[in-house]
Amino acid sequence: MSKDIRLELRAREELFINLEPLQRGGIVPAESRKIATSYIDGYSTCDYCLGTLHIIKKPPICDFLTEAADFLGMDMAILTHGCREAKFAVMHAITEPGQAIVVDENRHYTSYVAAERAGLKIYEVPSMGYPEFKIRPEEYASTIEKAKKENGELPALALLTHVDWTYGNLVDAEKVGKICQEYNVPFLLNTAYSSGRMPINGKRFLADFITCSGHKSWAAGAGVVGILAIRDEWKGKVLKASQKYKVKPIEILGCSARGTSALVLMASFPYVKERVKHWDEEVEKARWFSGQMESLGEIRQLGDKPHNHDLIRFETPAIDKIAQKHKRRGYFLYEELLKRKIVGIKAGKTKSFDLSTYGLTKEQLGYVIDIFKDIINKLS
Ligand SMILES: *Cc1c(COP(=O)(O)O)cnc(C)c1O
Repeated sequence: MSKDIRLELRAREELFINLEPLQRGGIVPAESRKIATSYIDGYSTCDYCLGTLHIIKKPPICDFLTEAADFLGMDMAILTHGCREAKFAVMHAITEPGQAIVVDENRHYTSYVAAERAGLKIYEVPSMGYPEFKIRPEEYASTIEKAKKENGELPALALLTHVDWTYGNLVDAEKVGKICQEYNVPFLLNTAYSSGRMPINGKRFLADFITCSGHKSWAAGAGVVGILAIRDEWKGKVLKASQKYKVKPIEILGCSARGTSALVLMASFPYVKERVKHWDEEVEKARWFSGQMESLGEIRQLGDKPHNHDLIRFETPAIDKIAQKHKRRGYFLYEELLKRKIVGIKAGKTKSFDLSTYGLTKEQLGYVIDIFKDIINKLS
């Protein structure tokens, strides 16, 4: 017996205050929504195909990529299906299976699985652990040394998570870039949580590769899309074309995001260029919010202090104590917040959780604080 698949319209951003870190930087402005609808048909990027996606002039994908590379302080850029696909493309293009890669311990799982898929041996730069979980750039040198000693050659790549997804810690990429340059190890900077939110300058960071997530941080939902930006000298390896199809780069199987998601990324770009100029205000708001949360008592912000990003993780004994006694156990927080039209904190999480303040007004954040205060006072 077949069942109808019923789809509900999603109105999370319209009806709720959404604190989900994964989603805050990917909310699509109204203008881009119009573009999304008009390019919704299959292969809509291909009306005036020139052989491969990144050189198409109409719509101006080629011009966009030139500007995006400039915006990132890099020489050139191509579209990918996401940040992970960009990382894998680089790993696959410039390493051989069995070689070593150095990554930070706060890395995203996609860095790990991309390296696994490329057959690489993974060496982790340890974090400093509780409570700040900092990655110290200097540790890249000792980890590179270790990989060299154990493999008889330098690691084929070093990857740094510019801002990590667990604590929202910002690492000094320039310092890591300098170390990589000294050792002559190619440097990939993963900016899934930074570019599109804050200004990025790959030149200053001495990055060989920068990977970006359009749907995470460039206001480009409508599917999945990413950017891989590189230095010119890597063009031959990373954009190597098929032997048979001379315009088709093999690492992205010829063409990557060939539809709406690419167009939404482009449509949101002017908005993104403007919003990164206001990053200081976002940091100021995040710090203010963190202080307000801590002042409720038995709540502690983990990660960088003072914090440098809108993704904030709190350790929350105040909430956990309530969960111990509450009949809904760990789910009470989610349900209490939902009643007050706040979503985005994972259901069942009470010992610690993360949230993002990105793009919310101080008034909205003040409301969130008031609700937390109210819940704690009422249920403690
Ligand atoms: C979200 C995230 C990714 C994955 O991005 P996709 O575009 O979905 O592949 C990679 N790295 C970090 C640090 C992330 O936070």
